[in-house]
Amino acid sequence: MARIQNLSDVVDWNLCTGCGACYYACSEGSISLVNIDAVGIRPRFNSSTCATCTKCLSICPGYIVDANTNNMATRSSPMRTEADHAFGPAMEIWEGHASDSEIRYRASSGGILTALALYCLEHENMNFVLHTGINEDRPWENKTVKSSTRDELVARTGSRYAPASPCEGLAAIEESDSPCVFIGKPCDASAVSMLRRDRPKLDRNLGLVLTFFCAGTPSTQGTLDLAESLKVNPKLIDSVRYRGEGWPGRFRIVYDDKKREQSLSYSESWGELTHYRSLRCNLCPDGLGQLADISCGDAWENSTDSENPGLSLVVVRTEKGKRILQGAINANYVQLQPASASSVFAAQGNLLRRRTEIFGRLLGLRLFAIPFPQFSGFSLIRGWLRLPMGRKTRTILGTVKRVIVRRLYIRRFHVSR
Ligand SMILES: Cc1cc2nc3c(=O)[nH]c(=O)nc-3n(C[C@H](O)[C@H](O)[C@H](O)COP(=O)(O)OP(=O)(O)OC[C@H]3O[C@@H](n4cnc5c(N)ncnc54)[C@H](O)[C@@H]3O)c2cc1C
Repeated sequence: MARIQNLSDVVDWNLCTGCGACYYACSEGSISLVNIDAVGIRPRFNSSTCATCTKCLSICPGYIVDANTNNMATRSSPMRTEADHAFGPAMEIWEGHASDSEIRYRASSGGILTALALYCLEHENMNFVLHTGINEDRPWENKTVKSSTRDELVARTGSRYAPASPCEGLAAIEESDSPCVFIGKPCDASAVSMLRRDRPKLDRNLGLVLTFFCAGTPSTQGTLDLAESLKVNPKLIDSVRYRGEGWPGRFRIVYDDKKREQSLSYSESWGELTHYRSLRCNLCPDGLGQLADISCGDAWENSTDSENPGLSLVVVRTEKGKRILQGAINANYVQLQPASASSVFAAQGNLLRRRTEIFGRLLGLRLFAIPFPQFSGFSLIRGWLRLPMGRKTRTILGTVKRVIVRRLYIRRFHVSR
């Protein structure tokens, strides 16, 4: 069986998540990042220095995701509840929205991520928020940004269903005079949780790590093909929003010097973009974000009310997350009601189902001797064993089919559609 021995193996076997952690971690400056439209953001290596170096493999979330790097996940096995196994230990679960109605309206779901980040800037003396926004020069792409005002945060609300590598900017947090907020996908948060173990200054300066529920990142090609389906020339695009401005909001392209606009409903656009997700996203065990202080997602179980301006589920994972969330409630940055695991089960059926299928998918890859990531602490075998026999078999056979059709047994970049 081929083995993962360095970062090049991770990339070539399609396990890279494009988080940018290797770019930040490389002390030799040997790694650059490049966005390949049909694939995602990938590291480019200096062939002489990287060939024998394995340092960044230990912090690569494409290869390793260990739920135990977060303190709550250490809850001992016999004490674990069904919910712990299904989406990871939670200290508290809430449901609600930002108190600021503009943030709530412009954000993806309830605007909790933006409201908490703003609270940290205004009440917790944090320096800036490292996160993701539109790349104005190529508006169908993202860029890593630092926000230190409300206006900057509001401009960067909303999920962007395209590659993003916020870990590339972690040096700014490490070098900051005071703590900062980090917002990223679960794989980005997982990289952060590994990096901070050996970097005391980064650890100290990570004032709050926020993540969100994530079903996977579509490649840039997904956005470009949606633009083409709407007959919009990419050269004329002024801005792309994937959702927000209502819940869940529409996919919107503004173009032709802002004179024209085309849009699709959330289900039309996301339904198409899902086909552009990578193999690695389909293997992700951490869709509900266990490796951050707080994880937020759509409270889909309440989305039948079309007038609802947006509601988030909030899963608190750490003591620090709990303290800061309480501060934000007291200062009226967020309005929350206590919720329970049953809300998460009702809202996030797809993500929870995927987690129970991962072990079967890994078995499918193993049949072809294709290397796969190391996952610990996610109860993957337990979840899979509880599936009915027919579904167990389908999880393996579905992967076998995918491997054959897409020729994933060949070591090379795999185009996401
Ligand atoms: C690729 C992707 C897949 C998702 N899948 C699901 C899902 O299956 N189920 C679900 O409930 N929720 C999913 N979400 C999360 C959901 O869309 C909302 O982000 C979440 O409900 C929080 O909403 P909010 O209103 O608090 O966020 P907001 O206040 O709008 O803040 C959003 C924050 O996310 C950051 N961000 C946006 N895009 C990216 C990106 N690509 N990478 C890193 N950071 C980014 C922004 O910088 C901003 O800080 C997904 C998000 C993304 C980006």
